[in-house]
Amino acid sequence: MSFAASTFDLDRPASPARPLIDPFARAITYLRVSVTDRCDFRCVYCMSEHMSFLPKADLLTLEELDRLCTAFVVKGVRKLRLTGGEPLVRRGIMTLVRSLSRHLKTGALDELTLTTNGSQLTKYAAELKGHGVERINVSLDTLDPDKFRAITRWGDVDKVIAGIDAAQAAGLKVKINAVALKGVNEDEIGDLIAWAHGRGMDMTLIEVMPLGDIGEDRLDQYLPLSIARARLSERYSFEDLDYQTGGPARYVRVKETGGRLGFITPMTHNFCESCNRVRLTCTGTLYMCLGQEDAADLRMPLRASEANDLVDAAIDDAITRKPKGHDFVIDRRHKRPALSRHMSVTGG
Ligand code: SAM
Ligand code: SF4
Repeated sequence: MSFAASTFDLDRPASPARPLIDPFARAITYLRVSVTDRCDFRCVYCMSEHMSFLPKADLLTLEELDRLCTAFVVKGVRKLRLTGGEPLVRRGIMTLVRSLSRHLKTGALDELTLTTNGSQLTKYAAELKGHGVERINVSLDTLDPDKFRAITRWGDVDKVIAGIDAAQAAGLKVKINAVALKGVNEDEIGDLIAWAHGRGMDMTLIEVMPLGDIGEDRLDQYLPLSIARARLSERYSFEDLDYQTGGPARYVRVKETGGRLGFITPMTHNFCESCNRVRLTCTGTLYMCLGQEDAADLRMPLRASEANDLVDAAIDDAITRKPKGHDFVIDRRHKRPALSRHMSVTGG
């Protein structure tokens, strides 16, 4: 399958587009796209065991996803991240990656990347690299096969590690993302860092965020990274770094391993002041903030016209509504999800 020539005609704006600047003077240069809400795992902090997924008919087609991403690139977005759900289980995903990679070739885009659970990487790593993807994030919370199965509800850690092997063999730079989970992987985080850094991979720790009903109590899962970091300091010495990847992580160098460790702390330290991103779902809903309900429907304007005027206007209008930040809280009085949608809808 290849996209119609008309898709590419839409790449050329009729007049130079205005860059996307929100009401707090933040330039929006980063779009994260959840290409599917489906996944081959059911991680306990992300999904409930019996999730109901969107009917396939509600999804944007790959051509429509391409058209929307391109509209953002024309408006100054420099980095695209495909996520989900599991992006590599979306049928035909490589067609989209190949098509979006034309923006790398023209220099309109600095980076095309993805966040994946790694289960399909043995199949796709080489192709991703061939389409100009340089770095990927792989989510892995434990190396213990039983714990991995318990966290993902049925995943096979060996398959993920084989996927990471394939990615590195293909020349992709891999960063490991691990969610810090109280009583689950908290004793293993130090070893996970040693393992990742030993293979030349950066690692980032993430705090659990209260997104979606998962049929469990968040307080049981929540481990503040301030506590994890204090414990890790007994084994490692950290040196603060200025290093930035365009994401919300704050990085340190771990002196003993020489590797980089990031901390994503939406709960204990709010990073919203430097937010440069918006998130698009697989149904064409644009969320201006991961932690707020307000959203803009881009599917309707997209489908209403073959030209991009309506969709451009809808994007401009949405950016004027980007909020200052989220207000997540997890404590004894706030055990319910702050938002009803799951992380797999908006894309992590
Ligand atoms: N399936 C892919 C994966 O697991 O990498 C991409 C989507 S997943 C939603 C993206 C990231 O969000 C993963 O690193 C996952 O661990 C993280 N995540 C999911 N639910 C979360 C939650 N409630 N709080 C914090 N991180 C979460
Ligand atoms: Fe799937 Fe990723 Fe959510 Fe786990 S975190 S259930 S792998 S979308």
